Amino acid sequence: MEAIEVRGLRKTYPGHEAVRGIDLSVTRGEVFALLGPNGAGKTTTVEILEGHRRRSGGDVTVLGEDPGTAGRAWRARIGIVLQDTDDAADLTVAEMVKHVAGFYPDPRAAAEVIDLVGLTEKAKSKIRALSGGQRRRVDVALGIVGRPELLFLDEPTTGFDPAARRQFWDLIRALAAEGTTILLTTHYLEEAEALADRLAVLAGGLIVAEGTPATLGGRANSGAKVSWREGGVAKTEQVADPTELIRHLVKIDADLTTLTITRPTLEDVYLNLIGAGR
Ligand code: ATP
Repeated sequence: MEAIEVRGLRKTYPGHEAVRGIDLSVTRGEVFALLGPNGAGKTTTVEILEGHRRRSGGDVTVLGEDPGTAGRAWRARIGIVLQDTDDAADLTVAEMVKHVAGFYPDPRAAAEVIDLVGLTEKAKSKIRALSGGQRRRVDVALGIVGRPELLFLDEPTTGFDPAARRQFWDLIRALAAEGTTILLTTHYLEEAEALADRLAVLAGGLIVAEGTPATLGGRANSGAKVSWREGGVAKTEQVADPTELIRHLVKIDADLTTLTITRPTLEDVYLNLIGAGR
């Protein structure tokens, strides 16, 4: 059964059609990433799926219910990390996590959640005394404290330092391994590559490509650029499959210490898809 099923979703704001008829399926247990430039319609889509925004048209089913009409029991099964949150700054981290845990029937222990997001040392600090990245980690803690079946993460790692981002990736992998379905938006292509089983690219309110990180936009068939030096001269060849060329280079005793094989990164493919490729 699908965790999320979207058919012909549309959203029109006064004077602007932000989502123009998209189809989307996310299977239970999957990590799905929604990519796209600023203003593409990602947050609008995610907010509709969360039941935080009304749609203008189309069919949406999330955990078997229409988020536009689903009630509290449904809400307790999902976790949400919004793009912008206004933290209750006068509470400590532990107080805030315990407070939100109280809304759920089977929450995780506050200390466990705080540890999972790497804030144990800050548990007794007031939220307003935290750095931007640390506050974002509180947002993530609040999103997972209710042990959600489905977790929505809208640009979850904005402001994270590289070590915190890696720690967050481990957390997402652990949640996914427990069977949590995860829908995330991100502008970090390496994040999408590290986490997503599948991804979709949204541009101008439409899905322009969908696939796995390895196959998106024909990436798997896009060949490789092989570079090496031969007799002190730099050489480069673009090939579909480098095997034969490498055999040849070995045979002619080329200097393989200079050999590089590069393929398009997910970012290269993405930029091409949204029409910003070089
Ligand atoms: P970002 O990457 O910047 O977060 P996004 O893909 O999440 O962008 P959305 O926030 O969904 O994009 O916005 C899609 C479009 O709808 C944008 O052009 C935005 O200006 C417009 N929009 C969003 N919210 C509203 C609103 N409440 N009223 C009117 N227009 C809106």
